[in-house]
Amino acid sequence: MSENERPHTHGGAASPPQDPFAPPEGGWQRIIGRHRGERPGPKLVCIAGIHGNEPAGVHALLRVFLALEERGIPFRGELVGLTGNLGALAEGLRYRERDMNRMWTRALVARAMQPLQTGKAAPGPGSGHDAEWAEVAELHRVLEQELDGQTEEVFLLDLHTSSADGVPFACIGDTLRNRRFARPFPVPVLLGLEEELNGALLEYLNDLGVVTMGFEAGQHGASHSIDRHEAGVWIGLAAAGCFPGPIPEQVEASRRLLSDARAGLPKVLEILYRHALRPRDGFKMHPGYENFTPVSEGEILAEDKAGLIRARRSGRVMLPLYQGKGDDGFFLARRVHRFWLKLSGLLRKMRLEKLLPWLPGVRRHPDKPGHLLVNTRVARFYPVQIFHLLGYRKRRPEGDLQVVSRRQHDLVRPARLEMRPPESP
Ligand SMILES: [Zn+2]
Repeated sequence: MSENERPHTHGGAASPPQDPFAPPEGGWQRIIGRHRGERPGPKLVCIAGIHGNEPAGVHALLRVFLALEERGIPFRGELVGLTGNLGALAEGLRYRERDMNRMWTRALVARAMQPLQTGKAAPGPGSGHDAEWAEVAELHRVLEQELDGQTEEVFLLDLHTSSADGVPFACIGDTLRNRRFARPFPVPVLLGLEEELNGALLEYLNDLGVVTMGFEAGQHGASHSIDRHEAGVWIGLAAAGCFPGPIPEQVEASRRLLSDARAGLPKVLEILYRHALRPRDGFKMHPGYENFTPVSEGEILAEDKAGLIRARRSGRVMLPLYQGKGDDGFFLARRVHRFWLKLSGLLRKMRLEKLLPWLPGVRRHPDKPGHLLVNTRVARFYPVQIFHLLGYRKRRPEGDLQVVSRRQHDLVRPARLEMRPPESP
């Protein structure tokens, strides 16, 4: 297939075994590879290395592109692999100046795109448009080319690894379309994490109508992280519907690989608490915690200048911060039962969220569709679960009120994706 761009591989089959993390032949490229089927269909875009010290996803994608080319697997739609932070990948750093996965708000993207739009682009050190600003602008431009005007379903898989090793898991924003995509992945799926973070690429694209999922494979430098990412991409292709014929053997092998790593953990969990950090509060996580470590209410987890920090509720620790910079000390998650998932799916299909503004203390936001204003003095007696059931997970204060919002495109995709950059303010 001449249309398909040949991936930059690690050399021929005859070459001696080499470091699986060695930079690809030809260096790091924005477009890792592309595979297009003969028939139209869904599009799966995979992003690897939006944190530059997480190259495992790039290597995994190279393997998948090679296998698709060599095996001639019947295919519909398109797979595209993109790198996130090219400059940081080359230097092996998480980022150079700013975390590139906290810059995807309309305002920050508009600022990143400004020098391009005004034609005064002079990217380079000291121009005010270097490092991650330039990366965001360029990745946005590539995503525009890939996504704008798409009428078929578009899926986006964002591949990550972490400093500590652990069980692979997935994160999704809580829409029914995201849940459906995540279901065939035999890993724990975490709801509500993105809603706690601001400026993640997945939320930006999800809000435009893309089905999105983040995938954490394991430790940065572990070769099994490449294997798990490769498994994630194969399962993602099957979940997206890219295989019109029999499901290739790679998908079944991938499911086995990931379910062996799952270690009996719950299938779906939700974030219920975030321990936010302030600058110089001297936060120190106590040793012995990793993702999914169970904790009991009152257990001492960490300390800072104000004293000991105890678990506010029983659950499981997620993303404990042991090293480096960050705004989050840890999160607490708990299992979500299948009954609850079924119920919330049913209620959303019945569009019951339309009834929420009838509750005392709750009204529609006058300017923002999909947002509610909640008077917490009146509404504090409602369990937060009522809002979660109907997809309202994002909360932030606005004056005396709380604004709660849900993801758009919960049930149906937009007829046509619009991926134009936001206007600068
Ligand atoms: Zn990452």
